[in-house]
Amino acid sequence: MDVKTLLIAALAVSLAASLCMLIIFWTRRTYPGFGLWVAGHFCGAVCILLFILPRDQFPPWLTIILANYLWFASMMLNNRGSLLFRSRRISYGWEIAASVSFCALFAYFTYVEPNIAARLTVIAVYHGGFQLWTIAVLLMQRPAYFGSSDVLQVVSLGILVAIHTVRAEQVWISGGSLPHQVIALQPFVDMLILGVMVDTLLVILSHIMMNAQRLEYDYRLTQGRLEQDITQRQQAEAALRESTEKFRLAFDNANTGMCLVDLNGQILQVNSKMSAIFGYSTSQLERMNVNDLALPEDISISPHFIHAAVEGEVDSSTFEKHYRHQQGHIIYGQVSSSLVRDIEGHPWYFISQVQDITERKQAEAALNQLNIELEEAQRLAKVGSWDWEMATDTVTWSKELYRILDCDSAQPAPTYQQHSQLYTADSMARLEVAVTQAVTHGIPYEVDLERIQPDGSSQWIIGRGESEYDAQRRIVGLRGTCSDVTEHHRMEEALREQAIRDPLTGLFNRRYLDEILPRELHRCQRNGEPMAVAMLDIDHFKHFNDAYGHDAGDAVLRAIGDLLKGFLRASDIACRYGGEELAVILPGSTLNNAQIRLDDLRRAIMQLRVIYKADDLPTITVSIGIAAAGEQEVDAAALLDRADVALYQAKENGRNRVVVA
Ligand code: GH3
Ligand code: MG
Ligand code: MG
Repeated sequence: MDVKTLLIAALAVSLAASLCMLIIFWTRRTYPGFGLWVAGHFCGAVCILLFILPRDQFPPWLTIILANYLWFASMMLNNRGSLLFRSRRISYGWEIAASVSFCALFAYFTYVEPNIAARLTVIAVYHGGFQLWTIAVLLMQRPAYFGSSDVLQVVSLGILVAIHTVRAEQVWISGGSLPHQVIALQPFVDMLILGVMVDTLLVILSHIMMNAQRLEYDYRLTQGRLEQDITQRQQAEAALRESTEKFRLAFDNANTGMCLVDLNGQILQVNSKMSAIFGYSTSQLERMNVNDLALPEDISISPHFIHAAVEGEVDSSTFEKHYRHQQGHIIYGQVSSSLVRDIEGHPWYFISQVQDITERKQAEAALNQLNIELEEAQRLAKVGSWDWEMATDTVTWSKELYRILDCDSAQPAPTYQQHSQLYTADSMARLEVAVTQAVTHGIPYEVDLERIQPDGSSQWIIGRGESEYDAQRRIVGLRGTCSDVTEHHRMEEALREQAIRDPLTGLFNRRYLDEILPRELHRCQRNGEPMAVAMLDIDHFKHFNDAYGHDAGDAVLRAIGDLLKGFLRASDIACRYGGEELAVILPGSTLNNAQIRLDDLRRAIMQLRVIYKADDLPTITVSIGIAAAGEQEVDAAALLDRADVALYQAKENGRNRVVVA
């Protein structure tokens, strides 16, 4: 190989390589495929130059092997360009394997075993294979826009495939109507080269068309997207305008005060309701800070919330604040404030709603005051109130009721069923009857209730109740009061005791006797029991008084009273009839039985030792007259008279004795 040939070859290859690199670099941002095609065609052009070189003056590796390899490289670059252009997967393995094997085969059939027919076959197989692959790439995933260029290229490549096939076929299949020496002759090769060049030009044209079409396609695509973007932006702007307008209308015409406040509390915008609440004009308000309106005691509320919102701890909050109205009076406002963030999520401003709740607050305060007064009144009157909602069986008690019934006001009031734990069984039975009447017929009630307190004493309560109705006049519950009347009850008891007791002897008095005797008589008659009545009179008591003094006489009367209380049965009733005369009712006693028992009593009185002023008083005797009730006895006074007659008899008969009527 001479130096001149080497230089031409090196120059051609380096020129081709550097141009390829440059073109690939320039076009990497538009269509990488286009750079590869240009490189491919450049290889093809260099190859044709090499083909044109006179064969006898240059070595075969330059005119045959390199020229053919450049041609083959131009096929590969074309194919790769199409693959890139169509965004298809690229595999280097096939290309390397094809390149190496192609070069090896060509070298073999040139130097080791020179055979032009074999070389033509190798060209036909390798070139045909690559061109068919490119055709397949062009036909598959073919965008509709570059149809004509595809067709042109497919046709051109098809012609090349056909040329190679015909050449190979001429050698092998037809048996050489054109012998390979002819094919290798310069005019034939020149024709072939001319044909290949024309076809290559066609392929280049198709590539240029393809790019132009793609540029147009991409332009239309971009244009379409741009138009779509513009439409979308216009729609978004219209929607924004509409929602801004809606917001403005809602803001301006809201029935609550509304304002926009910046992150320093500076008021940015207010609506007319806001100016109505505070008495300032909207423009005045829009020059103020939220703290210019708040009273000193509430001035920290807003900055506290703003700080928490900006720090990301809360996004919205509702609070109540006192404000100073433009005219000086205090108003009470309820504020609901929310933080608005910008598109990146940073705190932007606050939107707040303000409601004037002054009237509500005043009403609440008045109600509270009323409740306090009601509680106080209930406490003073010792009257507790309650309310029972039947549907849910919920009972509510006033504070005083908890106190009266000694229950923990932190606990819910006992339900109606649980009331049986509060009152005695007797009281509960009365209450149940009354409550049933109230619930079914709407009859109000008043019931005495007894509650046994922890110390065992009775507590007396008057329970009053009446029905509650709904709009349809249906009974839906009861409400009422409970008054603690224990003191009253005790006083009544004491008064009653006073009214029927004789203070000196502690026995019942004459009034009680008059009341009880007919009742006892009636009761015994009804039960078919016997009954006896006795009259006692102290003997010579006048003398006794005269001798020992009236006080000594009183001491004797007191001692006889005490003795009687212990001596008689529980059912017996002893009364001071008057002066030193006593009467005893003995229900269930026959005359005989009474005689025995009263004689015992007479003797017991005789044995009574009464000490007065450290001295023993003399023996006292009594005379006793007894009468028994007849079977049809109805007149208590007559019975008592008979006993009195018997007493008189006892006196007559010598005193200190029992006489039966
Ligand atoms: P006789 O045996 O007949 O009953 O004689 P007597 O003295 O007891 O006569 P009478 O029953 O008529 O007298 C009643 C006396 O009882 C008169 C009065 O001095 C005395 N007496 C009546 N009530 C009291 C009283 O409350 N205290 C005292 N100390 N004496 C009374
Ligand atoms: Mg007497
Ligand atoms: Mg007497």
